[in-house]
Amino acid sequence: MKIRNRITIHGIVQGVGFRPYIHKLVQKYHLAGWVCNSNQGVEMEIEGEENNINFFLENFKDNLPPLAIIEDIKVKKLPWLGYANFKIKESNNNHEHPIILMPPDVSVCEDCLRELNNPADRRYRYPFINCTNCGPRFTIIEDMPYDRGKTTMKNFSMCPDCNAEYNDINNRRYHAQPNACPVCGPEVCLYEGNKKIVTKDPIEEAQNRLIKGQIGAIKGLGGFHLACDASNCSAVLRLREIKQRDEKPFAVMVENSDRVRTFCHLSEYAREYLESKEKPIVILKKQKDNYLSPEIAPGNDCIGVMLPYTPLHFLLLQKSGLVLVMTSANFSDEPIIIQNEEAFQKLAHRVDFLLIHNRAIYNRCDDSVLKISYNRPIFIRRSRGYAPFPIVLSKNSKQILGVGPEQKNTVCFTRDHYAFPSQHLGDLKNKDSFEAYQEAVNRLSRVFQFNPEIIACDLHPDYLSTSYAEQVAQKKGLPLLRIQHHHAHIASCMAENHLTEKVIGIAFDGSGLGKDNHIWGGEFLVANLKDYCRVGHLQYQAMPGGEQAISQPWRMAYSYLYSIFGEKIANSNLELIKRRTSKELYLLNQMLDKRINSPFTSSCGRLFDAIAALINLKDEVNFEGQAAVELEAMCQSKYRDHYSYSIEEEASNWIVNTEAMFLQIIHEMEKHENMEKIATKFHNTIADLTLSMCVKMRNKYNINLVVLSGGVFQNSFLLNRIIGKLKEEDFKIYIHQKMPPNDACISLGQAVIANAKT
Ligand code: ZN
Ligand code: ZN
Ligand code: FE
Repeated sequence: MKIRNRITIHGIVQGVGFRPYIHKLVQKYHLAGWVCNSNQGVEMEIEGEENNINFFLENFKDNLPPLAIIEDIKVKKLPWLGYANFKIKESNNNHEHPIILMPPDVSVCEDCLRELNNPADRRYRYPFINCTNCGPRFTIIEDMPYDRGKTTMKNFSMCPDCNAEYNDINNRRYHAQPNACPVCGPEVCLYEGNKKIVTKDPIEEAQNRLIKGQIGAIKGLGGFHLACDASNCSAVLRLREIKQRDEKPFAVMVENSDRVRTFCHLSEYAREYLESKEKPIVILKKQKDNYLSPEIAPGNDCIGVMLPYTPLHFLLLQKSGLVLVMTSANFSDEPIIIQNEEAFQKLAHRVDFLLIHNRAIYNRCDDSVLKISYNRPIFIRRSRGYAPFPIVLSKNSKQILGVGPEQKNTVCFTRDHYAFPSQHLGDLKNKDSFEAYQEAVNRLSRVFQFNPEIIACDLHPDYLSTSYAEQVAQKKGLPLLRIQHHHAHIASCMAENHLTEKVIGIAFDGSGLGKDNHIWGGEFLVANLKDYCRVGHLQYQAMPGGEQAISQPWRMAYSYLYSIFGEKIANSNLELIKRRTSKELYLLNQMLDKRINSPFTSSCGRLFDAIAALINLKDEVNFEGQAAVELEAMCQSKYRDHYSYSIEEEASNWIVNTEAMFLQIIHEMEKHENMEKIATKFHNTIADLTLSMCVKMRNKYNINLVVLSGGVFQNSFLLNRIIGKLKEEDFKIYIHQKMPPNDACISLGQAVIANAKT
């Protein structure tokens, strides 16, 4: 019997090759009708034999285009009409602003790799091979809808062969916008300084030079990388000098997972992420006595690893056995370099060669970074491969722009039931990064045809993002909402997990301005999306020297000790004290006594710093969180006990006092207790005080949902301990799984709070 079905699909089905996919499939089942984009997804009618329609409905979800996500399908039976054929219809949107999804970049697929390595194929060793299922997207898109003419491929017109593939519905390059071949597409070139090196195969030549220990600047998908052989110590050291980056770990790229196993431990679960189409950098544990230069990640038992994600990377690594350092090409917090001219200007005189190409990068996009913690992904950076793909919200939202905080910035747009977090935009601390930030916001707004009704920013008046928000709000006459940093953390995690009810929110991070003008960062909140109440926090502690206390953890340790022992501490036998001059200590005493440039903080991050300095791990750090990473690396799960602490009630606020813990640690150090045990017991203490606070909050407020956010939760030992303890007491726990727990999640939180408040 012939029947007709109207099918409504909600989800992420626009701009992902969904309609061509359906078009192909209906041919297989001899169906007629039409498909078109609608406000919330795709709508279609199919007509044909009932059996065939049923087969179609059963099977069409099996081989979806890689980026498509189906949330909901509705099927309605209708009377037979007698369509003559099947058509992709123009969107009949009466919606003024249809939802626009910009596809993220997809790593090269198996089919393309096969062709890449087939000497008989016309794209043999062609570094820009791609197809409908893979290739550059976000990084080359200048405008939407996603069409070749609106990408940086517009300057290359397809040759007849490519054009035929592009127009053939049965070809795997049907409507592949960046389709290209050696005849018509972009090409790579090798340079030494400004001199072009003429060679038959520039990639092979680059590979040989890397093997010899040279350093190269290599143009990738979302920006330039600096590369060298990771097992060559002098090359790695030279690269560190070039980057002017003293200790921040470098990521490496290797051909495949088998090779990863030669220097790292790789679980099956981590392998799935490593090999996924997004190809993020996955942080893995190094094997003891591996063959890589220790300079790659000094003081760190982990290393960031990624697999090749463009055909160019594959060619560069294939059969070479190389482990390549691949670190983004930028200097001191500037944005990653994307343009050839800039690369020549800033890199050519510092590196041995440049491997560049003539396909422009339009949207700057750094590599994504995640780690696996007990079979859960923790994003450190959500960027290439993921951005600017939306996160689905539980309810429709107004059009809101969240501008983010200062560090690890992202911005976030919300509309309908989507939130669109941007790619990683970096630390907004200098002119260049602020310019790149504004450019990214403008480009994304234009492409998404985004007209914000409300702007949301941080409470901190001095952040560049705040002044940007003030300008935009004033220029467009829009309301500006200033959102407290830690409320934004909690709301962000709530939004990801579709929570709207009241929760216990625990925000542990480095710093965020509080309502009382102190620096918060060890916060216990009762919160929903609209409001929050701070019911407890880690005790306030002075930060002698302000920002300086972040780069010099010994100052934080001293601050704690001084408030416990007073001036007597100067005579103590602690190594930490003996390493300082009496002048330094005198100055610090003055600062602390008179509260000169010594803001108060309840930051959990600063407490980690203080402990690291106290146990002689780190007096100074090169980047925030470095001490905490080293402290975490020392932890051993066999140690289960914790130190003492107290929770005091002050004006209906619970204050966690850690003085007893400091005394016990000092006592254990005098007894020469092993450092691993002290570090672990410290982590256990934070977990235990978190549990104690949750129990108090549950008893008083009758809430059982716990939401964890903040950069401290990148610490998987701590996270796991806390989850373990809370589960034993039957709490329901929510953590970030799509956004990083660090400040990259703030813009999402700002936007969803602004929506709830208005
Ligand atoms: Zn492909
Ligand atoms: Zn061609
Ligand atoms: Fe934060």
